Amino acid sequence: MVVVMEKSASPTEIEQVQERLRRAGFQIHLSQGVERTIIGAVGDRSRVDLQFLEALPGVDKVVPIMRPFKLTSREFQKEDSVITVRDQRIGDGTIQVIAGPCAVESREKYLEVAVMVKDAGATMLRGGAFKPRTSPYSFQGLEEEGLKILAEARALTGLPVITEVMDQRSVELVARYADILQIGARNMQNFFLLREVGKVSKPIVLKRGPSATLEEWIMAAEYIVSSGNPQVIMCERGIRTFETYTRNTLDLSAIPVIKRLTHLPVIVDPSHGTGKWRLVEPMALAAVAAGCDGLMIEVHQNPSEALSDGPQSLTPENFAHLLTRLNRFSGNGRL
Ligand code: PEP
Ligand code: MN
Repeated sequence: MVVVMEKSASPTEIEQVQERLRRAGFQIHLSQGVERTIIGAVGDRSRVDLQFLEALPGVDKVVPIMRPFKLTSREFQKEDSVITVRDQRIGDGTIQVIAGPCAVESREKYLEVAVMVKDAGATMLRGGAFKPRTSPYSFQGLEEEGLKILAEARALTGLPVITEVMDQRSVELVARYADILQIGARNMQNFFLLREVGKVSKPIVLKRGPSATLEEWIMAAEYIVSSGNPQVIMCERGIRTFETYTRNTLDLSAIPVIKRLTHLPVIVDPSHGTGKWRLVEPMALAAVAAGCDGLMIEVHQNPSEALSDGPQSLTPENFAHLLTRLNRFSGNGRL
């Protein structure tokens, strides 16, 4: 449930309500907005008398939340969450463009493409150091060496870097280098990993599982937020359907639904979402039209020689073309 405090509620009154809820066994999450304070209480509602709560000094109203997700819900927080990374903001109405190759393949190639995507207008860099591959015989990533290259690219371009963390063991290592940690689609319901990144004080990009419903995806975000990290960015990257022409089916309707049900920012990855580079630009434009907060785009200098995901990677020229169209399309300096 959510306890909405009156505008004039004093710190003592807010503390009193929290104390009462704690005693009844609730987990407390405080949201101190500009207007008023909201107390999120997660626990067994039958253990507290709602009318008694409403009668406490400083309480405006008590709103029960029926949905299975609480802290990520719009009921808990009306305003959009805005996540700050270095001097960039995700979810404030601007469009962040995260770009780079699927995997960090070598220092030279990564630094080169990082500068190319920056010059074209990318606002953040991506690149996998730990790669979740379908085959154990495919390139698995450069691991810590890759993380060091990402850190060097950040120093060179001034752009924040995003990279995937695949298991609990490497959370601390990845968090040491990256500005944003990514939970890959295949790990969306790895609940131990979700709890672990919930303890990190850096933003998390949470990719939608290939077969996850919207509710399952939001519940995965709820794991992270309830473990202590409210900085979650949802990333739609396509789901598995009967269609075989595309690698996945990009579910653009997820954008307005997630925005209605939760207060979290939503970005879209049309590269994994389609698996085909020719579809990346139109789907990126469509995602922006549908109200997303950012895009994640795979870019490689020479896609035909990429160690992973070449067929869905844009060349730097095609990426620059996409950004030119995006700027014209969104028009008002949103980029
Ligand atoms: C990626 O972004 O590198 C990736 C592996 O994506 P996904 O987890 O969406 O397949
Ligand atoms: Mn990829």
